[in-house]
Amino acid sequence: MGDHCVFCKIIRGEIPSNKVHEDDQVLAFTDIHPAAPTHVLIIPKTHIETIEDIPSGDHLVSLLTERAIQVAKQLNLREGYRLVINNGDNGGQTVYHLHLHLLGGRFMTWPPG
Ligand code: 5GP
Ligand code: ZN
Repeated sequence: MGDHCVFCKIIRGEIPSNKVHEDDQVLAFTDIHPAAPTHVLIIPKTHIETIEDIPSGDHLVSLLTERAIQVAKQLNLREGYRLVINNGDNGGQTVYHLHLHLLGGRFMTWPPG
């Protein structure tokens, strides 16, 4: 599982990444195509494709959110930031390994494109 997944390869160190946080359950690294001055991806170390694949009652999204808040503090995003989960093709998901985007360092417009 996850043999050909780009984010699993990053977790295994087969693809280099700029890590900003790592613990036993979560990895956070900068996005290769940043959409904001700060753009970090927060991912679980287990291969889960989408938010819909999280077992009922599992606290994985809470864990990713807690880590994102921690990273936002670490990176001094005092004026705010945006957390995004793209789900499925119409949601803009391109990598099917669950991830939370942390975007900051500029004013984030709404609605998104
Ligand atoms: P999605 O569109 O699935 O919500 O977000 C996937 C994100 O992963 C995109 O913003 C894309 O730039 C990023 N990404 C894809 N491949 C790599 C990679 O090899 N390294 C890094 N650091 N980011 C990647
Ligand atoms: Zn994966």
